[in-house]
Parts: sequence; C-alpha cells; structure tokens
Amino acid sequence: MSASASRRFAMLPYAAPETRRPLVSFEFFPPKTAEMEERLWAAVKRLEPLAPRFVSVTYGAGGSTRERTHNTVRRILRESSLTPAAHLTCVGATRAEVDEVARAYWDSGVRHIVALRGDSPEGAGRYQPHPGGYPYAVDLVAGLRKIGEFEVSVAAYPETHPDAANPGADLDNLKRKIDAGATRAITQYFFEGHAFLDFLERARKAGITVPIVPGILPVTNFQQVVKFSAACGAAVPPWLARLFDGLDGDPETRRLVAATVAAEQCRLLQANGINEFHFYTLNRADLAYAICHVLGLRPVNAASAAP
Ligand code: FAD
Repeated sequence: MSASASRRFAMLPYAAPETRRPLVSFEFFPPKTAEMEERLWAAVKRLEPLAPRFVSVTYGAGGSTRERTHNTVRRILRESSLTPAAHLTCVGATRAEVDEVARAYWDSGVRHIVALRGDSPEGAGRYQPHPGGYPYAVDLVAGLRKIGEFEVSVAAYPETHPDAANPGADLDNLKRKIDAGATRAITQYFFEGHAFLDFLERARKAGITVPIVPGILPVTNFQQVVKFSAACGAAVPPWLARLFDGLDGDPETRRLVAATVAAEQCRLLQANGINEFHFYTLNRADLAYAICHVLGLRPVNAASAAP
C-alpha cells in the first residue's frame, strides 16, 4: 500500500476555535483602477480581523506592476495592522534594478519578500534570464540576503514546475532556495490533497525542514483555471470539471461550490496535520473568510469583523 493510500482521509470534527486556530496568509494582486483599488481595500479590511501571519502582494509579469505593487504594499503597511510581504521577480531587470526595488522596500519598513523567478510576459516564449539579472529565484534569494535581514518565502510545486527536468530536480531546486536563505515555501495551488501530502513527505525526506504552506485557490472561474493550470503545471481533476459543469451562467452557485471544495480540501489537510494555509484571494474576501471560519478561525476583534 502506498504512503498516500494508507493515510487517514477522514475529516476531523469541526474545530472548536480555541483548540486549533489555523495560521493563514492571504495573497492579493495590485489593482489597476480606482474601482479595483476600492475592492481590494474592502477585502483587506474584511480579512484583517482574522489576524493573518502576513498578506502578500504579487508582482506582475516582467515587473509590469512594480509601482503598483510597491504602492499597495506601502498602503497596507501604513493603513492596516497587517504585515505585508512583497513579491519580487527576476524577470526583465538587472540585478541592480531588482536590488533597488528591494532596498526601497527595506527603507519603507517591509521585512518580508516572496522571491520568485517569474515568467516571461505572455507571448514572449520560454523564460530567458535577463543578461544582467538574477537568473533564477535561488540567485534572488542570495541577493536579498545581502540587502537586509528579510524574511524570504519562495515558491514550491507539489505537481512539479513545468520547466523542471523531473520532480527530483525540482525538489533539489527548492532545497537550494532554502539553503540560500529562504525560510518558508508557499506552494502552487493543487486540487488533490495527496499531491501536497506526498510532496511534503518527499521534501522532508530531502532534508527540507522549513514550513511548506499549501496554496489554496478557491475556484470561481473554472475555464480560466483550466487555462492557467495548463501553463503552471497544476492538474485539474475530472471531478472538478464535473462539479462546475452546467454552472457557466450561475455565478452565485459557482461561488458556493468554490467555497465548499476549498474548505473540504483544507479540512482534509487539517486531518493530516496541516494547519497553515495561504489563500489566493483574487482580491475577494468572502470565500477566504468563509473557508477560514469553517477551519475554526475567528476574528480577533469580533466587533470589527462585521461586513
Ligand atoms: P525557480 O525556483 O527559479 O525555478 C523555476 C524552474 O527553473 C524550476 O523548474 C527549476 O527546477 C528550474 N531551474 C532552477 N534553476 C535552474 C537552472 N540553474 N537551470 C535550469 N533550470 C533551473 N509570478 C510572478 O510573475 N509574480 C508573482 O507575484 C508570482 N507569485 C507567485 C507566488 C507563488 C506562491 C507561486 C507558487 C508562484 C508565483 N509566481 C509569480 C509564479 C512563478 O514566478 C512561476 O511559477 C515561475 O515560472 C517560477 O518561479 P520560481 O520562483 O518557482 O522559479
């Protein structure tokens, strides 16, 4: 019997909030318009009372959101009680330019960077390191260590990054990122619990001891997820397609299904000893908030949590 088959897949009873408070973090993307900014800020304020470990802000392909990412991170720092983490990539910039962005973060009080290689902008083909840039995430991690005592998180891939020669090589790459100074890995999203649990087991066997936090994506737009998953190497199981079948014109039901699936996924992981989760929020608070509630998380200040 395989390790994954022998695992206990029973759900745990719903947690009494005081006994098993999960650790969570939330990911946002920098808004493009005033309207999107308003929506993002509403999400930040709604999720704030859940006291996440940190909230992270993504960095657009090719550094295209450099200013917007910085402004969003600074606003979070200034106008909320949350700890922001700024994503930073190697794409399309020299080392000096990337270092300058990192130094600006350090100077404005940001102490957590999610260090990534990034991808080529759409249509630009396969990733090519910038001639004067950091070639891979491992190099960026090492560079950041020279700039400040940042907390550094990196990406991990339960179902293997599409550019990796094989799963072993991908795991070696993760180990190198940790050895270079990263203190946490956050995973690409996945839908089968065993994909994460098997990966975790392999990572521990490979001597990776830092927290490996599952990235949870509540799926509201199934077609978009299918498209994105093909590019990022995440498997979309047939049961997920069946669940969204017939719901194209029914966003309300799609959202309820999304929350149910993601909550079940997290509860399965909880039953297997995982109690820390990173949510890809897409700048919407409602699903992440509901899932956290199911997992046993309650607002630190209940009065401020009213929608
Ligand atoms: P790396 O760790 O550098 O690895 C990428 C691939 O290259 C791996 O297959 C690795 O095995 C291989 N590799 C490593 N070193 C070498 C080498 N020397 N020679 C050949 N191959 C090598 N993208 C964005 O643009 N902005 C974001 O804000 C963003 N946030 C993300 C957050 C999370 C939690 C995750 C999981 C992903 C995020 N991404 C983001 C996507 C990420 O940039 C892509 O998945 C990218 O393709 C790989 O980035 P990485 O940091 O994992 O790369």
